[in-house]
Amino acid sequence: MELFDKLTILGYAAKFDAACTSSGVDRPGEAGKLGNAVSCGICHSFAADGRCISLLKVLLTNHCIYDCQYCVNRRSNDTRRAAFTPRELADLTIAFYRRNYIEGLFLSSGVVRSPDYTCELMIRTLELLRGEYRFGGYIHAKAIPGADSALLARLGLLCDRMSVNIEMPSQQSLHLFAPDKSKHSILGPMGYISGRIQESRADLVQYRSAPAFAPAGQSTQMIIGATPDSDFQIMTLSEALYRRYGLKRVFYSAYLPVGTNRLLPTAAPPLLREHRLYQADWLLRFYGFQAGELLDAAHPDLNPYLDPKCGWAVAHLEQFPIEVNTAPYERLLRVPGIGVRSAKRIVAARRMGSLGFPDLKKAGVVLKRAQYFLTCRGKMLEGLRIKGDSVLRALLSENSAARLPAEQAPEQLSLFSPAIPKTQNPKEAFPWLAPTESRPSGT
Ligand code: SF4
Repeated sequence: MELFDKLTILGYAAKFDAACTSSGVDRPGEAGKLGNAVSCGICHSFAADGRCISLLKVLLTNHCIYDCQYCVNRRSNDTRRAAFTPRELADLTIAFYRRNYIEGLFLSSGVVRSPDYTCELMIRTLELLRGEYRFGGYIHAKAIPGADSALLARLGLLCDRMSVNIEMPSQQSLHLFAPDKSKHSILGPMGYISGRIQESRADLVQYRSAPAFAPAGQSTQMIIGATPDSDFQIMTLSEALYRRYGLKRVFYSAYLPVGTNRLLPTAAPPLLREHRLYQADWLLRFYGFQAGELLDAAHPDLNPYLDPKCGWAVAHLEQFPIEVNTAPYERLLRVPGIGVRSAKRIVAARRMGSLGFPDLKKAGVVLKRAQYFLTCRGKMLEGLRIKGDSVLRALLSENSAARLPAEQAPEQLSLFSPAIPKTQNPKEAFPWLAPTESRPSGT
């Protein structure tokens, strides 16, 4: 098989792995235009300094001895298979790097022969890159569940970030749809990697030249919408993973209907659910929320019409309004419309003098949301009263498009789209363009 064919097959197969930062944009290439946002093969990540870096995202092979029902590469799926040799993949990465197409590699793989054998192939690829080519770029490697910890130790010294996919939000779902995997085969490597990262950080404090083990930390991916697991279960699991294994990120990937198992849904879940989970995840990581504050057994799913922070604030109006000039930083963070950066700016600015609403705007506060929850110098914004219903209505109307069913929601135009979609008759879109005689009379 030609190298290009392998790249096509294995780049496509890797696109189902969402454990990296990708935009979610779905814009196909068109004749006469440059580039597209659909082709698989390149994904993005962010360096420690905030720089966005492009990664070649590819599988070493899509042969797999496992039969995970939600995966396009499962052994029972009739799909074209291919495999790179470590040398081929290392050469390809360097060739792309030299052409300035990519700055790093995101390497995952199906399980060929055994987890240990697959892990050894990945190690060999990275040894060629790091050793022979002296490649210093970013590498994200997927650890293979069930691989020996001695192999994970070698892999972790060659890559920047490691990830082990948790796959399903509950043990029952994992047992049902990925019978070859077990909780232990996933959490075991995750715990080992977490321990080695901590050891490595401690070593680096003592010895500057100590080898770094996965210096960019570890992450994981969870498929959502394939099983009836609730958002509460998902967020509780994520919270436990962050706390116990010190993960950098949990990625939520909306299920793509590639399975034939009759227990799997035939349609993908709404992407809005994935979006809400990311918002709630952000609250756990940066805003000091706990999963149990956002959801509980009586309200197990996030409100699709309201972002989780607004939803929490509206349900806890007894804690508001808070006084901007005296509230502690942690309470400022809980106000919808105040982010981490604007909360820090408020704390810094109020040392110089008391703040009014115009100052909040300058600090980057989104006042149209925050106004219901704040006082400045003891007063709310002129003419505002905070009552459950009115606040909820106002916040919902801000996002009214989200409440429409998908087919009725207005089309999102790209920056360079014509103002009138091609599919629409301009006279229908703008009735005043119609000839005078066809206008309704009497006006
Ligand atoms: S182990 Fe499961 S999820 Fe991974 S490639 Fe094989 S079938 Fe897919």
